[in-house]
Amino acid sequence: MIPLKNRLQIEEMKKAGRITAEAMAAAVEAVREGISTWELDRIVRHRIERNGARPTFLGYGGFPGSACISINDEVIHGIPSRSRILHEGDIVKLDLGAFYHGFTGDMARTVAVGRISDDAARLIRAAKESFEAGVSAFKEGGRIGDIGSAIQTRAESDGFSVVRRYIGHGVGRELHEDPEVPNYGTPGRGVRLQVGMTLAIEPMINMGRPEVYELDDGWTVKTADGLLSAHYENSVALTEDGPVILTALDV
Ligand code: MG
Repeated sequence: MIPLKNRLQIEEMKKAGRITAEAMAAAVEAVREGISTWELDRIVRHRIERNGARPTFLGYGGFPGSACISINDEVIHGIPSRSRILHEGDIVKLDLGAFYHGFTGDMARTVAVGRISDDAARLIRAAKESFEAGVSAFKEGGRIGDIGSAIQTRAESDGFSVVRRYIGHGVGRELHEDPEVPNYGTPGRGVRLQVGMTLAIEPMINMGRPEVYELDDGWTVKTADGLLSAHYENSVALTEDGPVILTALDV
């Protein structure tokens, strides 16, 4: 069942989204050579709790951090650690959410540590622009496949690939709700898009092949070929006026 949200509920989700975006801004600002992913996680937790919210990821399925922090060929679900130190030239993915007044946000960014290669910069840009292409296809009367197709087309036009094994999802009272939102697909196929849907649209774009695998730690997902991966995500509501980004500072 797809839980549609009314206008009031979407306003509540904007509050959770704003707190999520504030925590993300604080973490992005703190990214620099020499900082550990554990320190970044602490910044996220403090910023969320200071706003009277709870880090949604903390304890979710037993996850030990407030943010998933994944470096270079790690795609998603990296565990914050004192021994994971950022180095110049790395790309780091931050994925987090704040739970507030019954709703959660879900948001991810990929950030450069100092100077990065031109290819890495192109990959980060492709993740963001494929997200934007997906949002443009989030229209009443459209289908879920329109979103996935728009994302896939944008990413593959740059010669990159789209992760298949992990996908976007509905978001609201729960971190993961129906429907599933693949980052690939066929236009005109899948669930019909309706006003009141709130989706976490989150392309995971690989430099090389789309295959990934999970580490023995039970969380961290890496690219099978060891090449870089970038992630970009926002929680997005479909309103009468079109799609609205909920995980923003200015909603
Ligand atoms: Mg998500």
